Amino acid sequence: MKIGVLNIQGAVSEHADMLRRCGAEVALIKRPEQLADLNGLIIPGGESTTIGKLVERFGLGPAIKDMAAAGKPIFGTCAGLILLSGKVAGSEQFLLGLMDVTVARNAFGRQRESFETDLDIPVLGAHPFRAVFIRAPLILGLGEGVEVLCRHNGRVVAARQGNLLATSFHPELTDDERMHRYFLAMAKEQ
Ligand code: GLN
Repeated sequence: MKIGVLNIQGAVSEHADMLRRCGAEVALIKRPEQLADLNGLIIPGGESTTIGKLVERFGLGPAIKDMAAAGKPIFGTCAGLILLSGKVAGSEQFLLGLMDVTVARNAFGRQRESFETDLDIPVLGAHPFRAVFIRAPLILGLGEGVEVLCRHNGRVVAARQGNLLATSFHPELTDDERMHRYFLAMAKEQ
């Protein structure tokens, strides 16, 4: 499995390390032509307006959309989730618009801008998943084809729509490999 990590800004090396630990080959992606031979792509967390501007400037948008249309899995974490979404409440920033979800940025309130918590994510098994939230977005609204993978206090923090996977939190910042292994299984199925 050769998985790309969008190498623009944010938690790039952490995703790359985690993927290698899970046995995948990793390519750091900056140019559209690099997407051609990948089995999947991760869009890391960081600052979604910055990542979006550079995705546009580097001409990566159409190539990422083609990849999604070809059924290749794409995993967005935190700012990556924002980029995958179709709409951000109160913002006109660049989006890929691949997932039928509406998100709110920095949605967990100031006093809890960053926090860790144990989540119940049934597709990963019974054992709780330790999740790190950093100025995280929240999924406010979902289209019909979107499957909720996890809620935290009733709010959606992980979802899947076919070959698209998204989490509000950063699964690359702990030792738990299950979320990345789940994504690699999606890539293998494809
Ligand atoms: N707050 C950032 C944004 O809105 C996302 C934060 C993150 O990716 N950890 O783009």
